[in-house]
Amino acid sequence: MTNENLERHAHDRTFAVNLMQHLVVPTFVLDHECRVIVWNRACERLTGVAAADVMGTSNHWQAFYSEPRLCLADVLALGRADELDTLYPFHTEPSDLGHGVKAENWCVMPHVGKRQYLAIDAGPIYGADGQLIAVIETLRDVTEQKVAQTALERLATLDGLTGIANRRAFDERLQHEWSRASRANAPLSLIMADVDYFKRYNDVYGHQGGDECLRAVSAVFQRLVFRASDLAARYGGEEFAIILPSTDLEGAREVAERIRAEVEAAALPHAGSDVASWVTLSLGVATVFPGAEGQTGQPGTLVSQADQSLYSAKKEGRNRVATAAVVA
Ligand code: GH3
Ligand code: MG
Ligand code: MG
Repeated sequence: MTNENLERHAHDRTFAVNLMQHLVVPTFVLDHECRVIVWNRACERLTGVAAADVMGTSNHWQAFYSEPRLCLADVLALGRADELDTLYPFHTEPSDLGHGVKAENWCVMPHVGKRQYLAIDAGPIYGADGQLIAVIETLRDVTEQKVAQTALERLATLDGLTGIANRRAFDERLQHEWSRASRANAPLSLIMADVDYFKRYNDVYGHQGGDECLRAVSAVFQRLVFRASDLAARYGGEEFAIILPSTDLEGAREVAERIRAEVEAAALPHAGSDVASWVTLSLGVATVFPGAEGQTGQPGTLVSQADQSLYSAKKEGRNRVATAAVVA
């Protein structure tokens, strides 16, 4: 390079760095050895880390995390795209690392003192000879959107009347647990529960009284301690369903009996019932091994078996638990 070109080059570089300093988007740049060469003001404001504390170091991770780990720019600089899955719950798939990558992640932000959900873009910068010389990473704090989105998604899985899981959440979970039990060759149990003589309950106490009763019954489901992997849902109307992964028929029958007894113990008055003067439940239990040889059924078959058991419980006098033989 001639002197004039060198000067020009230095001038261009200073101009580019100054430009980035004033960008409103939090931005930092790493050289090919993952050392920070730009840390702009917006990045200082976002992370609470001063440029002077990270420039020339590879300590930029400390601005985001409490434990050492790669940032998105490091992944590109080091060509370690295979680690994206473990590092980021959401990211685009780079066809090759010559392209930029987008990712999203909860960051601890140790210097700010509050977790933030960041949308991150990282793009490689190549020299005239095609060699990687730097990686630029830009960040956006999208915590508010993420929190709102998570709340909406959660709301979409809940039943409006009772606040427990709705039918949609039930269907999704059952499919998921079916596949999991299939792979693990584990049992999968289902309890279907139905309020006895509920039509008459509405007749006596009115529809709003009926709604209140359904809330009270749901509260019993929620109060009973299920395992974290269990799911109690409102299946529809006055029917409830409980998915019990890795639970055999006897275990599921015990849970069903506990629910039956708790609802009875709640002693919710039911003047229209032929079984008792309080609200009672009938429950049907079924268990399958979705992974068993020759098992060709779908989650729907488990629902219909539990439904048949429920029908038996009704026929045998209500306020009881009936079970179906295990299908291997
Ligand atoms: P059984 O003992 O055989 O179950 O008798 P049942 O009267 O409970 O029978 P069925 O399942 O046919 O009736 C259910 C009734 O539940 C019908 C409907 O009026 C009432 N129901 C369904 N959903 C709701 C709801 O959201 N609120 C209220 N209040 N009632 C509901
Ligand atoms: Mg019913
Ligand atoms: Mg009923």
